[in-house]
Amino acid sequence: MKGEKYLFVVSGPSGTGKDTVVSKLLGDHKEIKKTVSATTRAMREGEVDGVSYHFLTKDQFKQSLEADGIVEYTCYCDNYYGTLRSEIERRMQAKQPVILVIEVEGATNIKKLYPGSTTIFVLPPNMEELERRLRLRGSEDEETIQKRLRRAETEIARSANYDEHVINDVVEDCADRIFTIIQNRLAKPE
Ligand code: 5GP
Repeated sequence: MKGEKYLFVVSGPSGTGKDTVVSKLLGDHKEIKKTVSATTRAMREGEVDGVSYHFLTKDQFKQSLEADGIVEYTCYCDNYYGTLRSEIERRMQAKQPVILVIEVEGATNIKKLYPGSTTIFVLPPNMEELERRLRLRGSEDEETIQKRLRRAETEIARSANYDEHVINDVVEDCADRIFTIIQNRLAKPE
C-alpha cells in the first residue's frame, strides 16, 4: 500500500516506559500522530475514552472485527487489543507519520501487512528496573504484575526481528533516538 514508510510501530514490554517516550516525542513533533487502539480491558484511572483507547465491550470488539474495521488484534493478559483501520490508512495515504504502540504479535502482523513500515523495540535498561517501574505504577495486583513480567521476558526474547532497538534509559534521549529513526526512514524512498 502507498505510504507505508509513514507507518512506525513501537513495542516494548509493559512498564518499559514506551508510552511516556512516545508522549514526549509527540509533544516535541506535532506532525507525528499516534493511533488510538480499541481494547476490551477496563479503563485505568486518568484514562479517557477515545483518547487513551476506544474502550469497547467484547461484543462491540467482535462486531468491528467482523466489519473488517480492525487490521490486527491480539489477546493480551485476557483482554483484546486491536488497531483500527480508520486510524492508520487515511494518515498513510496523506503522507503523515503515524505511530502504533502495540505488542509484539501485533507488530509482526503489521509488518506482514505493510512491509514498508518500520518496527522499533523499546528495551528497559534491565529487568530489575522493569519490575520497579511496573510496581511504581501501583494500578495492578501482584498476579497481574507477575503475568506482565513473564510476558516481558517472552517479548524481549522475540524482539530480534524488529528493524530498530532503543533503550529507555532517559526518556528525552530515547524519544530523540526514535525521532532520528523516523527522520532517516522518511528521507528514504518508499
Ligand atoms: P496496556 O493494557 O498496558 O494499555 O496495554 C497492554 C499491551 O497491549 C501493550 O503492550 C500495548 O502496547 C498493547 N496494545 C495496545 N494497543 C494495541 C493494539 O491495537 N494491538 C496490539 N496488538 N497491541 C496493542
